[in-house]
Order: sequence, then C-alpha cells, then structure tokens
Amino acid sequence: MLDLATTKVHDEARQGEQFAPFTNDPNSYGKRFYIESYGCQMNFADSEVVASILNKEGFGATRNVEEADLIFVNTCSIREKAEQTVRKRLTDFKRLKSGKPGTLIGVLGCMAERLKSKFLEEEKLVDIVVGPDAYRSLPRLIDEANDGQKSVNVLLSREETYADIAPVRLNSNGVSAFVSIMRGCNNMCSFCVVPFTRGRERSRDAASIIGECRDLFEQGYKEVTLLGQNVDSYHYIPKEGMEADAVSFASLLEQVAQISPELRVRFSTSHPKDITDDVLHTMAAYENICKCIHLPVQSGSTRVLQLMNRTYTREWYMKKVDRIREILPDCSITSDIIAGFCTETDEDHQDTLSIMDYSNYVYGYMFYYSERPGTLAQRRYQDDVPLELKKKRLQEIIEKQNQLSLNDYKKDVGQTYKVLIDGDSKRSSEQWVGRTSQNKVVIFPKQENAEHKKGDYVQVTISDCTQATLFGAIV
Ligand code: SAM
Ligand code: SF4
Repeated sequence: MLDLATTKVHDEARQGEQFAPFTNDPNSYGKRFYIESYGCQMNFADSEVVASILNKEGFGATRNVEEADLIFVNTCSIREKAEQTVRKRLTDFKRLKSGKPGTLIGVLGCMAERLKSKFLEEEKLVDIVVGPDAYRSLPRLIDEANDGQKSVNVLLSREETYADIAPVRLNSNGVSAFVSIMRGCNNMCSFCVVPFTRGRERSRDAASIIGECRDLFEQGYKEVTLLGQNVDSYHYIPKEGMEADAVSFASLLEQVAQISPELRVRFSTSHPKDITDDVLHTMAAYENICKCIHLPVQSGSTRVLQLMNRTYTREWYMKKVDRIREILPDCSITSDIIAGFCTETDEDHQDTLSIMDYSNYVYGYMFYYSERPGTLAQRRYQDDVPLELKKKRLQEIIEKQNQLSLNDYKKDVGQTYKVLIDGDSKRSSEQWVGRTSQNKVVIFPKQENAEHKKGDYVQVTISDCTQATLFGAIV
C-alpha cells in the first residue's frame, strides 16, 4: 500500500520519508536519484518539483539509497533537533559514498540556505548545496559537481514560484495532492527562521494554480491542499500587459472549488491576522471547501504574543475563533503551540492552556521553544526558560490537547459524515481509511459486494472513537 498523504503541516510520521513517484516508472531512466525530505509540507511539495527537474535530466527516483547516483536531503531548520537529524543522515550518506565513489550528495532546502557554503568548507559533508529558490539550477550544479567542483546556489528570489513546473507526485495515494500557491514569508515572528531561509513572500500565478488543480482532478485526484506559509495573504497581481485582474485568496479558493463539487479543497497555513470574513464566507458557500482551519496561536498570553511579534492579542485571537464558529459552525480548528518562549511565566503558560480550552482545538502541533541563530528572538531576548521547565509545560499542553481531542471525537459518535476514501487501512485490507471534511480520520469495514474504491465518497455513521480516530460503518 502506498503511504497515505496527509494534510498535516509538520507531520512527524513523514520526517525522513524517502519518496517514490506515484505514476512515473523509474526503470525508464538511466540514472537514479534518492531524496529524503524533512520539515513542513512545503518541503515535501518542493521535493516533487525537484523530482520533475531531475526526471528531465534523466534521473529516475529510487527508494534504495544504495543504488542512487545522486542523494539529496531536503532539509528543515525550524528547530535545532531537525538540523541534528539531517547532519546525522548526511554523515551516514558520506560513509556510504566512501564505498561508492562518484555518488553525489546534495543538501536542499532551509538548512542549505541557512548554512550556505559552510557545508562544503567546514563540514565537508556534501558536494552540492541548493537553497529553496534555486532548484532550476540543479542540472548545472550536478554537472559542475560531476566535474569535481563544489557547487552552491543559495540565491533567494523575489519572483520564483516554479509555476510552470509540473510536480511529480510522490508517495501520493492518487487521491490527495498538495499544490504550492505561494512561497516565502513577510511576517517576522521573532522565533522563526523561515523568513531568512525562504525569502520574501510571493504569490504564484493564479491561472497556473487552477490549471494544476484541474489537471489533478482530471487524473482522478479528489482532494487538493493549497499550500503556503501564510496562504491568506495570497495576492496575485498579473504582470504588466496581462489582461487579468488581481486575485485574492478568497477568490482563488472559490475558483478552485468551482472546478468540481467532487474535488475537495483544503488549505494550510492561515496566520490568524490574515484570515478574512471573505475567506470564511467562501468556505461556507462551497460544500467541497473542507471545514477545517489551521490557525496557529503559538501562545495564549498577550505579553508573549507581543514578544513573538505575532501582531494579535489573546482577545483578538479569541474573537477570530468566535467569528469562525459564527460563520462555520461545523469547522474544526487546529493549532501550533510553542511552550517556554523567552521570559514565559507560569501565568503565561496558564493563558496558553486556557486559550486551548476556549478554541477547542481538534488537533495541535506542539513544540518547546528552540532558539534559532539569526532570528529576532535570538538577537533580542534571552532563552531563559530552563529546558526541564519547557518540557514540563509542553507535556501539560500535550495532555490538554489529548483531552480536548478525545472530548471532541466523542461528540461525533452517533453522527453520520461524508467520508472520502483514501485507501486500505494500515491494519487490514478489509477496512477502508478515509477522512471527513473536518480532516478526522475514519476507519470502517469494506462492504461485501459493494464496488467502492479509493477516491469515492461514502456516508459513514460513527460508532466509536479514540482521541485520533473515528470508527464506523457505511450507511
Ligand atoms: N507559517 C506558519 C504560521 O505562521 O503559523 C508556521 C510555519 S512554521 C514552519 C511551523 C511551526 O513551527 C510554527 O507555527 C511554530 O509553532 C513552530 N516553530 C517555528 N519556529 C520555532 C522555534 N524556534 N521553536 C519551536 N517551534 C518553532
Ligand atoms: Fe514563521 Fe511567522 Fe512566517 Fe509562520 S508567519 S513562517 S511562524 S515568520
């Protein structure tokens, strides 16, 4: 069974995933590349762009690193631990290379951007270093590296969106796909390295996004997730001389939803300051726009939010939650939370726990603060919450979230939901796994003599649950 594509923003289960293409036959290529991806969904989507560029150069994907001519690691810098994991992998690959000279090792993504040529000069771990906006130069860099030169391109761009490159879908179940709609980030959250590693925000040409989503639907995909660090600030301004109007995120969402009522549309991530009533009303108007919003709060304390430079207060965030509930009563809300940011007191931490209650998150991505070199927080504030205390607070946040998730899932028992079938459940080929519009995973038995297949919609009545899974039967 192919691995299931989820819409999680930073899915722990996918870290280090090697990819294999969904459609292309790797045997039709003379050379092989192997790529492992870390970090957020944007990185996984970028690996699909890289695969497309490499295919054109005659490299087919392999999951077997031993047979690869080219080994790439698409990296994440968001927390120190993510970088440590990548370093360890690069050391493993370097060892492998010593038994197979001629293999090239490359580092892609945020860590390449952050450390630049240090990888070549100090760490001597790799042959090629490529930042997130420089993947088009891969063919040249590979040639240079093959000639024995060390190759680096970490130039950030104000325009690059890879709009014209059709990604090669990797590890997809053929039902759900990710579509990148913008790159970079202009927000300067003080804890975050992304604005430094991925550059200025830019929106991809709307027509190319809609075209890609339509192609996916025609190929049989039933769900697209529009991706960006901050999708709600999507704003496409056509180039001079083009006869198109500017496109806002609400308008883009609507145009994608109009491709077909059979195509589910999701999006991630929303910065709370940018999600507008227009977006919420568009979601309400289209049944196929999934009722699930990822609205990272980071902290429940106004004082900490100010230090984080999140540009909203606790009260403002709570009003946003109220507005979502008012316009979209059946919408699930998920969040990202950081425990132990600089100067965080017990009172601030209690504010985080209470805003979790207020927002009733269905799911949360929870981390303890990890200081990142070059960020505003690293330059301005002291990382003064002891590690043990950060871990203790994180544990309390996780326990709170587990309880909230369980309570919420219990409310679904007895209800009937429209579920999109993703494929066989991991445990048994006699069961389907699918998701509701709220992005909750549902497991249910296959019906004898029924002709259901993955990609179909079915109505499922829920009979039981855990804090992360619903169980039911087709009605
Ligand atoms: N753009 C998204 C937003 O604004 O919500 C988030 C993107 S970031 C890649 C994913 C998450 O990583 C953040 O929401 C934050 O919770 C977490 N994160 C970022 N920097 C961090 C740090 N230095 N330490 C711990 N967690 C961090
Ligand atoms: Fe990082 Fe903030 Fe941009 Fe999200 S919005 S990527 S947390 S700077």
